[in-house]
Amino acid sequence: MQRVICAILPKLHHRENEKGAHVNQIYLSLGSNLGDRFMNLERAVLGLNQFCLLTAVSPVYQTSPWGVTEQPAFLNLCAAATTNETPHGLLTHLKYLEAALGRQVTYTWGPRVIDIDILFYNDWIIHDERLTIPHPHLAERAFVLVPLADIAPTLRHPQLGLTIAQLRQQVDSSDVTPFAETPLQLAWEN
Ligand code: AMP
Repeated sequence: MQRVICAILPKLHHRENEKGAHVNQIYLSLGSNLGDRFMNLERAVLGLNQFCLLTAVSPVYQTSPWGVTEQPAFLNLCAAATTNETPHGLLTHLKYLEAALGRQVTYTWGPRVIDIDILFYNDWIIHDERLTIPHPHLAERAFVLVPLADIAPTLRHPQLGLTIAQLRQQVDSSDVTPFAETPLQLAWEN
């Protein structure tokens, strides 16, 4: 699987600084509701290894669609990683990865093979025409907060001042049900 991903992502290069450490702490949200949803998540996590060092991957949850509700249910997970990419460089890599995995542009909140959002980049606050970090909807999305609380409960939102565990308490998570343990252990241990 790793080789397949590398073959279809020739533009992505694994980068490290001089000491071999990736310096920026990032948190990502991944979702899929088209095709083999579990495999799409698995391939996306493998693809992340090309420009991030994954440190944690949450279990997978099944969630009702958000925004546009007449579409198949999503599978979602969150991942923690370090990277040397800038925020905008990271976004560019993520867009390549989404395209390589077959994502086609549909409509806002429409069905997608894979969607990868940047939730946090260190404790930075960014707002420009390409990027809003922390992700503007994360505090209202149970499908983000439930898996994120599994891997980063004490992480504090730099604008809201609350931890992920506290934010998770504030949302209705009745639609977010466990689907599978993370299938991806090997992806980030290799
Ligand atoms: P999406 O439909 O979720 O792939 O997002 C569409 C656009 O949202 C992207 O092309 C980005 O330019 C923009 N965007 C703004 N903030 C973020 C973020 N924190 N993570 C990912 N995409 C973002």
